[in-house]
Amino acid sequence: MNSLFYSIGVDIGGTAIKYGICSSSGDIIEQASVKSPADSPNKVILNKLLEVIKRALDSAKNRGITISAIGVGTPGSVDVKKGYLKGGTPNFKFWREVGIIDFFKDKLILPVFVDNDANLMAYGEYIFGAGKGKRNIVCITLGTGIGGGIVINGEIFRGSFYAGAELGHMTIYYNGRDCNCGGKGCWERYGSASAMVQDYNVANSENPVKNTVEIFERLNSGEKISEKIVNDTIVYISAGIANIIHIFNPEMIIIGGGLSEAGDEFIKKIEATTRQRAMINSAKDVLIRAASLGNRAGLLGAAAFALQMRR
Ligand SMILES: [Zn+2]
Repeated sequence: MNSLFYSIGVDIGGTAIKYGICSSSGDIIEQASVKSPADSPNKVILNKLLEVIKRALDSAKNRGITISAIGVGTPGSVDVKKGYLKGGTPNFKFWREVGIIDFFKDKLILPVFVDNDANLMAYGEYIFGAGKGKRNIVCITLGTGIGGGIVINGEIFRGSFYAGAELGHMTIYYNGRDCNCGGKGCWERYGSASAMVQDYNVANSENPVKNTVEIFERLNSGEKISEKIVNDTIVYISAGIANIIHIFNPEMIIIGGGLSEAGDEFIKKIEATTRQRAMINSAKDVLIRAASLGNRAGLLGAAAFALQMRR
């Protein structure tokens, strides 16, 4: 019998910090979340992280569980060796140039490992979710933006300076919409959930929606505007996926994030449109699937990453 190891996963998001005790077989023993102090100074965020980690450690102790390591996923590019957050993200005002591991050094006995949140979501899906058993996968998350994570030969691919895999910022229209990354025509300005809401509200300013769930509700009730917006978004998403397939030719593309919960039909249409656009040889064996861990992917990925780094 394989013996189990346990770790703590922490997933820093714009609205919540999720944390939990996870096992090496992908079970979440316990999880909780606190409101994310996204707009606060670094010190406040670091102290909040320490607080939730200590809470999880206490809880593990009460359950008689031995924790081996702690994994933290954060937005922004992370120098994984140093545990240093380099670049930030627009949702977090001050969260950049932070020595995350340095902060924990004299406060925790256990090792802490940090990586980018989208990388760890991809890693979670690769170890425990839709990509289980594969070696090469690309995971995209369609939410406020488009996040990307790439696993090649079982390892997270981060680029030479920890700032690669920014799939949401590939240009799909050379002279397109301005993006807050400084670029133009970025994929996430067209294929993300927020782009879809924005497009809908421009097309139907009399009767706007708050989120994509409302757009799909209107689609199901036969509304024409939502049908057009959903179909356009499918084309935008598929254009980006075809690019990814041409570059990586992975075993599987995993689609996660809020928009991936729109249902099987939505994913199937993305798959069909992608196959129409991509070169047959590049695309024919590539599986295109919805993520299977939902919003647990980041947490489980962080926990699994910590155990892998510990070895
Ligand atoms: Zn961009």
